[in-house]
Amino acid sequence: MEDLRDRRPDPVAPDRGLNGAPRAAVVGAGWAGLAAAHALASRGYAVTVYEAAREVGGRARTVASRAGDNAFAAPLDNGQHLLLGAYTDTLALMRELGQDPDTLLLRAPLRLASADGRFALRAPRLPSPLHGAAALLGVRGLSAGARWAALRFVLGLRRQKWLAAGQGETFAQAGGSPTVAHLLAVWNQPEEIIIRLWRPLCLAALNTPPEQACARLFAAVLRDSLDAPRSHSDLLLPRCDLSSLWPRAAAARHDLRPGHAVREVAVEDEQVRVDGEPYAAAVLAVPPGIAARLLPPHPEMTAVQRALRAFRHLPIATLTVRLAAPFRLAFPMLMLTEDPARGHLGQWVFDRRALLGHDTAHGELAVVVSAASAFEGRDRAACAAGLLDQLREQLSGTGASGLPQVEHWELLIDKRATFAAEPDLARPGNATVWPRLALCGDWTDTGYPGTLEGAVRSGLHAGRLLADTQGIR
Ligand SMILES: Cc1cc2nc3c(=O)[nH]c(=O)nc-3n(C[C@H](O)[C@H](O)[C@H](O)COP(=O)(O)OP(=O)(O)OC[C@H]3O[C@@H](n4cnc5c(N)ncnc54)[C@H](O)[C@@H]3O)c2cc1C
Repeated sequence: MEDLRDRRPDPVAPDRGLNGAPRAAVVGAGWAGLAAAHALASRGYAVTVYEAAREVGGRARTVASRAGDNAFAAPLDNGQHLLLGAYTDTLALMRELGQDPDTLLLRAPLRLASADGRFALRAPRLPSPLHGAAALLGVRGLSAGARWAALRFVLGLRRQKWLAAGQGETFAQAGGSPTVAHLLAVWNQPEEIIIRLWRPLCLAALNTPPEQACARLFAAVLRDSLDAPRSHSDLLLPRCDLSSLWPRAAAARHDLRPGHAVREVAVEDEQVRVDGEPYAAAVLAVPPGIAARLLPPHPEMTAVQRALRAFRHLPIATLTVRLAAPFRLAFPMLMLTEDPARGHLGQWVFDRRALLGHDTAHGELAVVVSAASAFEGRDRAACAAGLLDQLREQLSGTGASGLPQVEHWELLIDKRATFAAEPDLARPGNATVWPRLALCGDWTDTGYPGTLEGAVRSGLHAGRLLADTQGIR
């Protein structure tokens, strides 16, 4: 006799949404997690995003000012960020989300100019790779010998396939994976170009001093800017706060659980439980130490957990300054010259007033200090005083009649801004031993240092990996 129970409509499976779509969880609403959520939703998943903080965007998010909402004309970010034309996946993702990069980002051809006017590098509008060669040969403020040495270095790296495939002669000389400092020594780079160009670039791109930074990752950054279409070396500067750039628009498409710090992830045969709630699949998009804690125990994941716990992190500090009178920089982003003995630790100054286009009566600047370990444990007011002194000194030679009086300042220090991009780091991939659980974050094996584009690529890859994995629908 027919069992009537077989003719009942299927109940909604716990790991499926009301419309029958499989449910996926993303833990962490940074740029990686939100990119993963987008990839999963694009493949038909109903996505729930858990985020420990109240705001989305992770390390690249909008934060409240300690001085109150009106201290600055526009919301502050966790730190001033710069994107590059090479961030192609981020730009494509913004477009898919209806966030127009052409209006939300200021695009300018590569230009690195010092605030004191003594050094300038510009990429002329020539086809790649001529733009890079012409930029190096045309640098203002360096001797002819230094310019040729820089060109020889870049051409040599290009010949060695940017240190990516095989080890090439440089690695053989270094006796292992060299640091950036070692690489520059092997290529006889004069001190003047190290101080003016390679060190600032290494700090900006890897947030790691040349003496500790991985030469391969540095070469990959140079490759993506100089051995790629010319537009990849363009500078892209946000014209709005970072959460408004695209993270909020992305999060609005999912079931967002802000203020929910996930404590437990359990993988079963047919589902993944996130704090007890069942999903068909899940992505851990949290910093490496937290991922190590949330990963369920499994003998094949022990090495991955060990690698996750081994990441060392370095701080980035951002000083935002509101001035009593209008003030403009010659270009929205200028280089500063460091003098650690005098507390002059800023490397870049950004013109927030020019970028964010608000409040014409007051200038606003942001000073960035990468690898800001010197600030650790020090009094904030003393750190800020050194940076303000540096600004006054180095901006006075730009033709402006001196820096107006400072009305407010705020120094934000993210102690764990990025992982230290050291040689021989073991960076896990996106897959885990479980087909239903993936990892993502700027720290996965992206081939990039800890950057926004690395985070987005990692997230997209993790989302697609889960969706493509057979048998989890
Ligand atoms: C000051 C500063 C300046 C920078 N400048 C640049 C720049 O100019 N250009 C550039 O390309 N990159 C820059 N970076 C690096 C860039 O911000 C990061 O690479 C990127 O934001 C990393 O994104 P992510 O999603 O991998 O990680 P995260 O942003 O760290 O995201 C992880 C998320 O997980 C959440 N989370 C943690 N634990 C839990 C839990 N248990 N449950 C739920 N949620 C949890 C966190 O709150 C966070 O939102 C900068 C970083 C900083 C801090």
